[in-house]
Amino acid sequence: MNLKRYWLFGCFITWGFFAQVQAPHQFLPHYGKHVSYYHHVEDYFQHLVKNSNQIQHQVYGKTYQDRNLNVYFISSEENLKNIETIRKQHLTNIGLLPGSKTRQDKVFVWLSFNVHGNEIGSIESALSVAYELVNPNNAATKKWLQDVIVILDPCLNPDGFARYSHWLRDITGTQLHPGVTDREHMEPWPGGRQNHYVNDLNRDWAWQTQKESQLRIALYQQWMPMVHADVNEMGYNEPYFFPPAAEPFHEQITAYQRKFHQKIGELTSKKFDEKGWLYYSGERFDLFYPSYGDTYPSYNGAIGMTYEQGGIGAGRAVRQNNGQILTIQDRLEHHTKAILAAVELSYLERNNLIQEFHQYFIKSRTQPLGNFKSYVVKNSPKVEGLLQLLQKNKIEYQIADQNVSLKGWHYQTGKDANFQLQPNDVVISVDQPRAVLTQVLMDPYHKLTDSLSYDITAWALPFAYGVETYGVKSFLKIAVKDNTILEKTIKPAKFYAVAIPWNNVVSAKILGALHQKQIKVRCLQKSINFDGKSFEKGTLIVTKADNLSVENLELLVQEITKDKLDVVFLHTGFGGKGGDIGGELYPFLVSPKILLLGGLGVSNVDFGQIWHFLDERVSYPHSKVELAYFNRINFQDFNTVILTEGWYNLSDSQRKTLDEFVQKGGKIIAIGSALRLFEDREGYRLTKFAEEETANQQSKKRKERELKSRFDEFDSQERRSISNEVTGAILENVVDDSHPLGFGLGKQYFSLKTSNQSFQLLKGAQNVMYIPKKYQSHGFIGAEIKSKLSENFTIAVDEVGRGKVVYMVDNPMFRGFWENGNLLFANAIFMVF
Ligand SMILES: [Zn+2]
Repeated sequence: MNLKRYWLFGCFITWGFFAQVQAPHQFLPHYGKHVSYYHHVEDYFQHLVKNSNQIQHQVYGKTYQDRNLNVYFISSEENLKNIETIRKQHLTNIGLLPGSKTRQDKVFVWLSFNVHGNEIGSIESALSVAYELVNPNNAATKKWLQDVIVILDPCLNPDGFARYSHWLRDITGTQLHPGVTDREHMEPWPGGRQNHYVNDLNRDWAWQTQKESQLRIALYQQWMPMVHADVNEMGYNEPYFFPPAAEPFHEQITAYQRKFHQKIGELTSKKFDEKGWLYYSGERFDLFYPSYGDTYPSYNGAIGMTYEQGGIGAGRAVRQNNGQILTIQDRLEHHTKAILAAVELSYLERNNLIQEFHQYFIKSRTQPLGNFKSYVVKNSPKVEGLLQLLQKNKIEYQIADQNVSLKGWHYQTGKDANFQLQPNDVVISVDQPRAVLTQVLMDPYHKLTDSLSYDITAWALPFAYGVETYGVKSFLKIAVKDNTILEKTIKPAKFYAVAIPWNNVVSAKILGALHQKQIKVRCLQKSINFDGKSFEKGTLIVTKADNLSVENLELLVQEITKDKLDVVFLHTGFGGKGGDIGGELYPFLVSPKILLLGGLGVSNVDFGQIWHFLDERVSYPHSKVELAYFNRINFQDFNTVILTEGWYNLSDSQRKTLDEFVQKGGKIIAIGSALRLFEDREGYRLTKFAEEETANQQSKKRKERELKSRFDEFDSQERRSISNEVTGAILENVVDDSHPLGFGLGKQYFSLKTSNQSFQLLKGAQNVMYIPKKYQSHGFIGAEIKSKLSENFTIAVDEVGRGKVVYMVDNPMFRGFWENGNLLFANAIFMVF
């Protein structure tokens, strides 16, 4: 026992109760040597809560796999006693609660750990950070906590973490494997990075497609921290990364936010220098795409920061390329040091932080930076989805109750135009507390300070939701309705038939439910006027006459359609002018029997997006099989096979199995790189170029470029390579909406292009969706590829034998947030047979 231990023992007696607070390694003997289980983490925090008055616990929900989502409030005992009062004052001061402003001297710092489940250095460090904050022997942290309230979430992604930690425990024994040739460094598909549905929670902050994000952001909105740290890991050879972030910064990032980043860099580097640890900053992690754990808080006024430790794939210990061994202990120590520095700086900067935060919420709404001060969204059934997203982000909107002539920038044509604001249109004014977030999510154009962004460069909600929108340059003052809820149809007890318009994912969910109840559904093939009402093609029709054997049909249909606002109950089948329901315009729909392929080689997140869509969004049965078990699939059980992004290393006989499946009447939906399975393959019409001549020209051009590039300088390499890149841009498409794949989308569709893969319009296939000769686009597209994309298809249907292959060049379900893309995918599933 050394002297320090004697001293600690003394404290134990003197402080009694509080001195029982144990450090993580005392409480958990494996700590720093092996990964913790999730229950270890919860137990340790429970220990802190039991033994310290400086920490409180809140469960803010459950994950898909039923694990607790935990958050801990850490501050002085006095602050914690008054925490609700302090919170309310804070929200009042930034205009989120009514009341008059009061002097504020407390700073809110939110620490988020382990958004990616397999980045375990992050969650492990959360224990040490919490310990140092409440440790009675740490005088520094006690001083900070007089003025700082830390909100600590030790694990944003418990399911992913559990997947990784159980696996690592399963496959490791007593021997360490610092050399990389061991399964300890080879995580199996789909990996623990993502959540239950294999969705990346650190791309989901704004869209909140996942339960964990929805619950967390709801809590976040109640606290609105001034500083937010997102604690991550990256490849294990990388030195530590801390702010400042890299360019491009979004222009909405304020001078003070930049300045704080700079100060974090200065303070953290000092601490790392003392230890002799390697690090870097200002490179690689930019502040642009709004759905990250640094940008989302930044657009909510906070200092949003990403921290990254090398560690992914490191297991318990790994030899780095400089010969050094990196352990879990190293990873958690680095994080602990950096994150405590962030709390320290928040304390030191508290006066500026408070003042700047208050200013932010005044200035951003009175002198907004973006082009538009208001947005008008024309009323349509698709608006409902947009409103839900606005609500999740606490963005205020109003429902107009007036007719006014206005001028604005029309998203769909990309031009200024006069338009009529009408009752029930949605008005979103920037004059609101979340002014910046509103503009960032709505604006079509974002200034890139540098074209080398890591991620998509455009995401404007009007395109994602397919809603007609105008950007207006003034704050609109118009009469609005009292409530912001759209009216629903009143459902009668009896009907002849029901018409369910096909225009959003709710329509698809309803159709899925009808199929599952064995209710026969017809689908209108042409837009018509029926009994004085206009019905668009794609409208679902359920008649009593088709479903005599279904018990309580009326009740059942009312229940299934209860979430859809625009359902029409019909009391006649007489449409007139050839539109009678008994006529030819309404064929029956086939019930899809779906197989989704996954496993090694298939992009796990793309797989996850489809799984989540089928399971959660439309609640429709489907089978998932990993490629390794391909030969055990009974293809006769299915009529729909989904091949999402991936490298399908199929044998010749497996390819033949797919050929036969289609030949016999099956449907394959192939997405992104899965198109390679069919490209230039006999029997399919998928080719890059429509004419051989074009192919030759392109190859000649490529050769010329290669020759010319011999003179290029080495250091411009990266920039040159982006001339052929699209990391994520919005493109205008023409839709053939007479094809069922186009139902509900209208004649124009804005797609999110996420790769440089391109195909000219196909010969002999149905090019349902394509980029016209002259097209509108938003976001960064490399100069070289920009011209190549015109008259390329985005979605095409190839009729092969008795079946079909739907080619989707880009994944319309990208991250689940492109709501019109979700509808497009639903068309491919439910409408095309
Ligand atoms: Zn991460």
